[in-house]
Amino acid sequence: MAASAGLVRSGRVRAKLHSLAGRAAVPVAVQLELTQRCNLRCCHCYLGGSVSSELPTRRWLELVAEIRELGCMQVSLTGGEIALRGDWLEIAERVRQLGMMLTVLTNGTLMAPEELDQLAKLCPSRVSVSIYGPCAAVHEAVTGVAGSFEKSVATVRHLTRRGIRVRAAIVLMRRSFAAYGATRDFALSLGCEPVFDFTVDPTALGGTDVLAHRLSTAQLNDFLLREIVPTRHSRPRAGDELAAHPRERVVGECGAGSSSAFVSAAGGLYPCVGFLPGFGSVATRPFKSAWHSEKATRHRRRMSRVLAACQSCEAADGCVSTCPRRSLVEMGDSALPTEWSCHIAKVLHDSSQMKDDVNGEYPPWVVAGQQGVSDEEGMAGSDDRE
Ligand code: SF4
Ligand code: SF4
Repeated sequence: MAASAGLVRSGRVRAKLHSLAGRAAVPVAVQLELTQRCNLRCCHCYLGGSVSSELPTRRWLELVAEIRELGCMQVSLTGGEIALRGDWLEIAERVRQLGMMLTVLTNGTLMAPEELDQLAKLCPSRVSVSIYGPCAAVHEAVTGVAGSFEKSVATVRHLTRRGIRVRAAIVLMRRSFAAYGATRDFALSLGCEPVFDFTVDPTALGGTDVLAHRLSTAQLNDFLLREIVPTRHSRPRAGDELAAHPRERVVGECGAGSSSAFVSAAGGLYPCVGFLPGFGSVATRPFKSAWHSEKATRHRRRMSRVLAACQSCEAADGCVSTCPRRSLVEMGDSALPTEWSCHIAKVLHDSSQMKDDVNGEYPPWVVAGQQGVSDEEGMAGSDDRE
């Protein structure tokens, strides 16, 4: 929930929005995982092969209304693959009817042309389609399904022809790294916005086998140093402002659980995807009740702790962001930065290229550094991902 990104040009406004919303515990961005079923078998999938039960249509529609009442401004529909549910368009329509922004995450292999036309009529802020390579061989080595590349590309073409903003969600992994430049060029040729996500996080159940797909240190360094990495632009709490105000940095600066939330397919309410423990089930009880529960209050208290390790960090000007969920899984404490985060910060800190680029033009691609919901269009924080 690599976030995400899309927030590059007005990141400061979005960060401010999340900061204010977080203080008032207003869930301005909510990600709804309509299903955990998927027709692809992506090697890095955060679901780790598990599939839970799903809420019925009626409850999703009620939840959409409930989060609107609480001040939600943006809803992301995600899976699994949402098109495996026959009601995804009905839920998307309700989001728009209630005046909220809509983003959709899909693998792009199952939506019929008529469905895509209906989606286009809803004017989504963005549709993210996973693209893992510039050709079937590279893409399908990740998805594990023959023919998936052609279908995803057809979906991207269909939507861009209708003027929909499409993001190519490109997860950089060890096995596909060599093709990342070609993947970016291919995505641009399709008329969509390539967004790199160089994180692979533990699965929703805490499984760490998927970490084998993370870029090697050499690949990561290569990527960071060769590309113009604009993450300091996209993450206004980091970079310049963090360096200026390091003591303001708190564990939950991404807003997970205070200004953004994730509802799992089975109805569990979480700060963000895979961020345990959650706030309880909203399958039958109102969203508001779980959102303002004692568990949620305790979470927000934990998230308001100052990041002690960051206070005197010399690499702070290169720091993309910490991720409390990742820290919890990998370090056992959401307040302890991971080696991964600090390594990236150090490379960026040491990079004269990045310093030279501070006032440069944005390249036609952006880099997402995290997974989650709060980095959605109009939001600040991290990244979306299939
Ligand atoms: S590099 Fe590590 S210690 Fe330094 S500010 Fe970033 S997360 Fe904190
Ligand atoms: S940075 Fe925050 S929103 Fe993003 S994945 Fe981590 S906990 Fe979730």
